[in-house]
Amino acid sequence: MIIRDDDGRIDILSLSFDELCEQVIAAGEKRFRAAQLYEWLHVKRVESFDKMTNLSTQFRARLGELFCLKSLFIVKRLESHTDNTLKYLYRLPDGNHVESVVMDYNHGTTICISTQVGCKMGCNFCASTIAGFRRDLLPSEMLLQIYTAERDSGRRIGGAVLMGIGEPLDNFDNVVCFLDLLSNEKGMNMSLRHLSLSTCGIVPRIRELASLKLGLTLSISLHATNNETRSSIMPVNKTYRIEELLDACKYYFAQTGRRISFEYALIDGVNDSQKNADELAALLGGFVCHVNIIPVNKIKERNYTSDRKSAQRFRAMLEERGLNATVRRTLGADINAACGQLRREYEI
Ligand code: SAH
Repeated sequence: MIIRDDDGRIDILSLSFDELCEQVIAAGEKRFRAAQLYEWLHVKRVESFDKMTNLSTQFRARLGELFCLKSLFIVKRLESHTDNTLKYLYRLPDGNHVESVVMDYNHGTTICISTQVGCKMGCNFCASTIAGFRRDLLPSEMLLQIYTAERDSGRRIGGAVLMGIGEPLDNFDNVVCFLDLLSNEKGMNMSLRHLSLSTCGIVPRIRELASLKLGLTLSISLHATNNETRSSIMPVNKTYRIEELLDACKYYFAQTGRRISFEYALIDGVNDSQKNADELAALLGGFVCHVNIIPVNKIKERNYTSDRKSAQRFRAMLEERGLNATVRRTLGADINAACGQLRREYEI
């Protein structure tokens, strides 16, 4: 994607391989230079054009005139003493902040990345939305969260979840471009089978994503079993009701064959009753899906609470009703690894 800075220079890390080829040829260089350049950017990941030693000094100087090469600054790095989870607070080139969390699982290392600075969606239990929305992240800025974490931690990241700050489907074009860069075999080469995108339920974009057949896992932040409760905690439900959302999920499954994951933040007294379990079973029965129960993380603006015991109890209720459900493992509890909380301490 061609994105220009205020000074007219193009954000080089947001260019697809084909776009980079076009730019390199337009600058009067041979096509194979683009492959070298792409490797410097996405495999060797140097932070300045000067370090691209197999390119002529003249071409390197020209690159600096035509393109900007962005980087993220690590403002804070927290490491969990219990499970190696790492949390980063990054400063973006314009002074805004976002967070990423690196988690070690048995099957490898996964990163949770942010897709926007803040969020417009207004879910009332979520710290990311309370501080408000600033702007969308660029493809390069999503990619750099991964590159910077890999460089700093020395870990190889094999999977990603788009579950940090922001609503990925509210930044659709940039996210799709980022996914293309992430999975490009000449670059990071991540299989999108190892990627989950989480959404609060923007129905038309779910359908659009389905038609792209990217092979990623779709996670739906459901969190409620009827429209009344869902609309009271998630304003997006006033526009896209549960029935419409589930129709779009069925379409996603039909198009991609990928099992849908439903996230369910359990909140005592709000969505944890027998009746809720009955309603959820009625909504999801016969659906190829998985329910992931998360005891709600406490944020200071709300009195919402829950714990693992309630979550296990609710899980048992769902299993009795034939649903496939798990309670999400808590990682990085000692470093407050849930999203949105660190950034807020740093935003003015
Ligand atoms: N906007 C996207 C992705 C970001 S949030 C979405 O809504 O899915 C990632 C997940 O964390 C979502 O399921 C979100 O609802 C959940 N979440 C946000 N705040 C939470 C909290 N306080 N406790 C538990 N889960 C929370």
